[in-house]
Amino acid sequence: MDRMVRGEVRPLARSGNASVITRLERWAAAHWWRASGRATRDRDQLYGGAHGLRIVCFHETLPEELRQVKRVVDFWRARFAMAAPAEADELFEGRWRDTRVDRMLITFDDGLSSNHEAAKWLAEIGISAIFFVVPSLVDRTIGEYLRYHERYGVSAHTPLSAPDARGLSASQVREILAMGHRVAAHNFAHRDLGRLHDPDSIRYEIGNAIDSVAELTGRECRDFAIGFGQPENLSDEATAYLREKCPRVYACHRGLNVPGRTPRFLLRHAFDPDHPMAFTRLCLEGGADRHLAGRAQEMVRRVGVLPPADGAATTWAPQLSLR
Ligand SMILES: [Zn+2]
Repeated sequence: MDRMVRGEVRPLARSGNASVITRLERWAAAHWWRASGRATRDRDQLYGGAHGLRIVCFHETLPEELRQVKRVVDFWRARFAMAAPAEADELFEGRWRDTRVDRMLITFDDGLSSNHEAAKWLAEIGISAIFFVVPSLVDRTIGEYLRYHERYGVSAHTPLSAPDARGLSASQVREILAMGHRVAAHNFAHRDLGRLHDPDSIRYEIGNAIDSVAELTGRECRDFAIGFGQPENLSDEATAYLREKCPRVYACHRGLNVPGRTPRFLLRHAFDPDHPMAFTRLCLEGGADRHLAGRAQEMVRRVGVLPPADGAATTWAPQLSLR
């Protein structure tokens, strides 16, 4: 069920009935798992009892979706703590402090123009988020974006969105920065990095994205979110490129980020507006992490763990050969 990431994974055919049953099953599971204390047990078993950083990933935020973003944020901030992008940096650099409560960082992928409203609302309530934009979609409609990449012989992937959707404008990006948010990079043509192995294509997707975001924002870009976000959406060649080109990488499979324990590429919960809110809350509290623990373990094998919180800060040394 977690492979049905909105806007990211090709949709599977399913009937309306099946969809209702799945919703009911998720709703029932959420209540059962909550009553049986799953979140506490999973925290002990998966994270040694530690608290950490929970990251949520949203996509398009048209009015109905924005209403759901607000529900998630309001739920969390009434009970736990919110985190700013700089707190994720602390995780990457071995400076994270366990405050005995999970903190939540809000992120958005793709850079669709509807994200501007979400950025405004978050700024009004004092929350800073990261917007991972497809920079080739900035100032373009989806059609213009596809034609842009065709000129380079590239068949770009279209993020799932309203038919008349367009990317953020450059001026909206500047406003988002001025609100106190961070703007970062997402795959340049949103192709699946799990299928790309040659250096030119990998540079096109990652290097171009990082350089274009830096140009757009006038500041260095050091954060990249992997399109589709699962371990299989990242070839070994793309992984090697990312590790050398970009110090802070974000995946998109669920889990709590804990120093010295969880993958160097941060875990994120892909918010799905089709899930019952009870299920989303349960996931955010950690009651369903065990189902995706295998993916986190695979990424630990491939990229290692986050530095321990009491360790010396790691330094990032880009290799010139990959620029
Ligand atoms: Zn995406």
